[in-house]
Amino acid sequence: MIDLRRADMHAHTYCSDGRLSPTELVAKARACGLKALAITDHDCIDGLAEGMDAGRQYSVEVVPGVELSVTVGDEEVHLLGYFFDPDHPGLRAHLAAFQQRRRERAEQIVAKLKALGVPLPFEAVQAQARGQALGRPHVAEALAAAGYVEEPQEAFERYLADDAPAFVAKPLFPAREALALLHDAGGIGVLAHPGHWTSDATIMALLQAGLDGLETIHPSHDAGLTHYYRQLARDFVLLETGGSDYHGPRPDEADTMGRYTIPYPWLERARRAAERVGVT
Ligand SMILES: [Zn+2]
Ligand SMILES: [Zn+2]
Repeated sequence: MIDLRRADMHAHTYCSDGRLSPTELVAKARACGLKALAITDHDCIDGLAEGMDAGRQYSVEVVPGVELSVTVGDEEVHLLGYFFDPDHPGLRAHLAAFQQRRRERAEQIVAKLKALGVPLPFEAVQAQARGQALGRPHVAEALAAAGYVEEPQEAFERYLADDAPAFVAKPLFPAREALALLHDAGGIGVLAHPGHWTSDATIMALLQAGLDGLETIHPSHDAGLTHYYRQLARDFVLLETGGSDYHGPRPDEADTMGRYTIPYPWLERARRAAERVGVT
């Protein structure tokens, strides 16, 4: 019999930069007729407990997920973690420390700006981040909002770029360590939206670091990119995942939930892979 059930393995709540609560997100998945939903907030798993409760209430299978900001050399990529134990002490400790280091870095940038005669309240930067791990784009947007620069790009050129006066190096989380941590927590790691920025050389480095899969279905992938990454996944015997990368509802964004889904058997394959990780 053909299995018509669908899953969305990439969605954000207000625990990072999404708009909905975990419960509202699960209710939306249910309304879209989805069998399963992975909640994948940026560098944060605080929404999982509520989301999994809501999953039982709405009869939607909620997969524990996270979208980690990691580095491969100088390149930053997003790594989707799935099926890990949300109570794994090492994972929890890492996420807490990572958020703290991001915050400290943003505070150092704000202090440098002040010394340069550009006083910017730290709260203005936090407001731009809306719960996401703090980064330079949020400082740039805050500088533009405060009228110090015309647009965020100018903030980079004048203050924030690697050779500019308010630069502070970013705390790194190498992909290899992230993958080891996810595996240690009983989960798997999948490269998010490879078509966004990721070079093939970076994908090869990730494969050597233990990458388990590619997110082949994503709103940023057109038919050509989808085909390309599906072929790559087959060539390297990688798992495939996909989803809407839903952040909404937002006035400026088409409603993607329900439009970018994967067949449920893909999710089951990913779960079996995670179970094997747990055994070895
Ligand atoms: Zn992402
Ligand atoms: Zn995302």
